[in-house]
Amino acid sequence: MNLLGLDQSELMELAVSLGEKPFRGKQLYQQIYARKILNVQQMTDLPLSLRARLSADYILETLQVEQRRASIDGTVKFLFRLQDGQFIETVHIPEERRDTLCISSQVGCDVGCTFCLTAHMGFKRNLKPGEIVGQVLHCILEGLVPESGFNIVFMGMGEPLYNYKNVMKAFRLLTDQQGMDLSHRKITLSTSGVVPVLRKMNAEPQLPNLAISLNATTDQVRNRVMPINRKWPLATLLQACRDFPLDARRRITFEYVLLAGETDSDHDAHRLAHLLKGIPSKVNLIPYNPNPGLPHRRPSDGRVERFREILAANHSLAAFVRRTRGDDISAACGQLAHLTNNGTSGLTTDN
Ligand code: SAH
Ligand code: SF4
Repeated sequence: MNLLGLDQSELMELAVSLGEKPFRGKQLYQQIYARKILNVQQMTDLPLSLRARLSADYILETLQVEQRRASIDGTVKFLFRLQDGQFIETVHIPEERRDTLCISSQVGCDVGCTFCLTAHMGFKRNLKPGEIVGQVLHCILEGLVPESGFNIVFMGMGEPLYNYKNVMKAFRLLTDQQGMDLSHRKITLSTSGVVPVLRKMNAEPQLPNLAISLNATTDQVRNRVMPINRKWPLATLLQACRDFPLDARRRITFEYVLLAGETDSDHDAHRLAHLLKGIPSKVNLIPYNPNPGLPHRRPSDGRVERFREILAANHSLAAFVRRTRGDDISAACGQLAHLTNNGTSGLTTDN
């Protein structure tokens, strides 16, 4: 059993079950998450007997690196091997102001978006809290990102709201002030629109930023490219966004993948602005990252710019074009998918 992923109360219970005082569990928690020590023998504030028990019966580790690829633009993509032999991908994107880690929430995904390579590997299983936190901890321990002051986006493989319990537990572990103490304002959860879970989030005391993968402006097109729309169509999804509790100054990010001839017309731009009326929002335009065998095309740079301009000039919407990063190593949005089991790569998203 891996100690990584247990929260403070679980570690306190564990200490008690081993015949120790509960505060030993608290110490263990701080050593792991605040000091980031993963070798129990180095936790010198714990009694020798407890250290011996822990190292005999438990493991404490992040994830095994199966492959590490660096892009010419500095982006690094990890292929991690999980304990049961499954693979996930994590992407580190260095940026001038603040780096971003793009992490996975599931092995594969069963939402089935037609433009996304992760969809094509199917769904294997949910990640455990320790496997989610482990992706971040690994990048910190490798020195890729500092101990704080970077962004985390749940935009890797998987639909985070279909693994809600584990994703939220990981979110609490990442942000707990007695532990990893990362800012909840720098963590963004991206969803294809699982409306009942989105509504459940309203009750959480602390929330990450929210990003919605909208990607189309009519139910007809969205039904086709994002089958989840047949369950929760645009009007239902956008009503849930209107009802989502936002702190002052916070906005919902709407991701919009531009597919040439399908979602990138002037009409789409005007309709998109109309749909978002009344929601404090920001639009991230993502020109489609081509995947071999998928039936879509990337629009020209001119078309992308025109789309952005309509949103900004005609509708005063904050709209940004997401620069493609790591496409030479298939680390860009929608390119994450571990397609084979022989150690060659292929993962799914970027951001
Ligand atoms: N499952 C979640 C999070 C992972 S996908 C979600 O769908 O929101 C992260 C982002 O990558 C989504 O906004 C998705 O629309 C986008 N994406 C997927 N495939 C893409 C592709 N081929 N090109 C560009 N963006 C893509
Ligand atoms: Fe899943 Fe997101 Fe890819 Fe859709 S875009 S298949 S929800 S990972």
